[in-house]
Amino acid sequence: MTNEWKLINASLPLRDEAHLYALTVRDGLWTDVAAQPGTADVPGAVPIDELAGAPAAGTVVDLGGKVLLPGLVDAHMHLDKSFCLPQVGNASGTLEEAVSNYSNAVHAFSKDEIKARIIRSALQAVAFGTTAIRTHLDFHVRWGADVALRTIEAALEAQAELKPYVKLELFPLAPMFRFEAGHLDVLEETLRMGVTGVGTAAHMSATWESDIDTLFGLAQKYDLPLDFHTDESDDPMKRTVAHIAQRTIDCGWSGRVTVDHLCSLAAMNDADAGMLIERMAAAKLYAVTLPGANLYLQGRRDGFPVRRGVTRVKDLLSAGIALATASDNIHDPFHPFGRGDLLQIGLITAYAAHMGRPADLRTILRMITEIPASILGLEGYGVEAGNDADFVVFDGATPEELFTMVPERRWVFRGGRWLKLAAKRSGFALPELDRRLGEAAERLAFGTPAAVAKA
Ligand SMILES: [Zn+2]
Repeated sequence: MTNEWKLINASLPLRDEAHLYALTVRDGLWTDVAAQPGTADVPGAVPIDELAGAPAAGTVVDLGGKVLLPGLVDAHMHLDKSFCLPQVGNASGTLEEAVSNYSNAVHAFSKDEIKARIIRSALQAVAFGTTAIRTHLDFHVRWGADVALRTIEAALEAQAELKPYVKLELFPLAPMFRFEAGHLDVLEETLRMGVTGVGTAAHMSATWESDIDTLFGLAQKYDLPLDFHTDESDDPMKRTVAHIAQRTIDCGWSGRVTVDHLCSLAAMNDADAGMLIERMAAAKLYAVTLPGANLYLQGRRDGFPVRRGVTRVKDLLSAGIALATASDNIHDPFHPFGRGDLLQIGLITAYAAHMGRPADLRTILRMITEIPASILGLEGYGVEAGNDADFVVFDGATPEELFTMVPERRWVFRGGRWLKLAAKRSGFALPELDRRLGEAAERLAFGTPAAVAKA
C-alpha cells in the first residue's frame, strides 16, 4: 500500500527563496517539488509543531515557512573516539599530545566500549539532522592485530545497527609510521572486511611520500576511495597535498580522493598557497575543513599574533574546489567540545572564515549538505522528485535565523519515517530515536575528567 502525504509552506534556501514550496512524499521518496504562488492554506493541515507520529496517507503537514534541508552530511568524524576525553586527557591541547595519549590508551578500550561511542555519537548527530557520516577509524596495529581489528569490528557492527538511522562510511586510518609487512597484511585484511575506503595522516610520518604511494596502491588494488588527514600543521613547509594531487592524477583517481584540514595552507604566503590550490583543483581533490578542532589544536606554540589553524576556506571555494565543513571529534583529546551538530559547525566556520554575508551563509549550508554529499558519492540525494525524502526541518525561517539562533528544535525524516519530532506540547509518545539515544547515553554516560572526579 502506498503512503503518500504532503508538506506545504516549506522554505528551501538551497533552491529558491522567492517562493515557499509544496512537497509530496510517497513511500520515502520525493515525488513532487512545486513552488507555491504564495502561502498555502489547506483546511485540515497539521502544523508541524503539533506533529505527533507517523504520517498517515493523505496528511498535509504545514511547515509555516520553516527551513527544510536535505539530511545533513558530515564528511569527517571520529565516532570511535567520541566522549573518551575523561579517560585519555590532553593537558597541552596540542595535536601531538592528543595523538600520543590516544595511541597509548587505545589498547585498553574494549570493542563494546568503542561500539557504544560510535552509536551514541552517531545517533546524537542524527537528532541534529545528519543522515550520512564518513567516520575515520583508528587503526593501532602496533598494539597487535586484535587491537587494530576490534575498532573495525565495532564499527562494522555499529554500521549495521545504525542503518535505519544514518548511512555510515568507514575509513580506517593507516598507521603514521613506516609500514611493516605484517602491519600491511592486517590493513589489507581490514580492506576486505567491508570498509568504505582508507586514509592516513601522511604529514605525521617521516616516510610520508612512500606512505602516500602505498595507500594509492591499496586503493587501486581494492578499488577504494582515499581520504587523507593532510598537512594538519602550522608548519608552512608541510605540503604533502602536492604529492597527493600528483598521485591522484597519475592513478586516475580524481573524484575519489579527499584531503582534510589543510592547516599549513593558512600558515604560508599567498603565492605558495595559490600554487598548491591550483594543483588541488587540477587533480579535482575534494576538501574538508574542520574548524572546531583546528581552532582548538593549532597555533599552540605561537606568541601573539596566534595563527588560527583553519584552512583558506574562501580561496579553496573560489578555486572551484568542493569544500565541506565537518565535525571532526566530539569530547575527546583532539577536540573537547562539539556535539555532532553540523549547524553549530557551520556557525564556527562562519566565524573562522569571516563568512557572514547572506551569500556566505548559503554557501555554508551547501558545505554541510550538497558538497559533502558529493564527497561521499551519495546517490538520490537532494530535494528533487525521484530522490530519497531524507530531510531535516529547522525551527527557523531563514539561513540568518538558523545561524543566529541555532535552533534546538528540529524534525528529521529518513527511510519513510520521522526519526525526530519536536512537538511544542509535551505528553506525546517518544519517537524511537529518542528512546534509542536515551539508551545509548545510559550505556555511555557523559564522563567526568579523572582530575575533577578525584578532587
Ligand atoms: Zn580527523
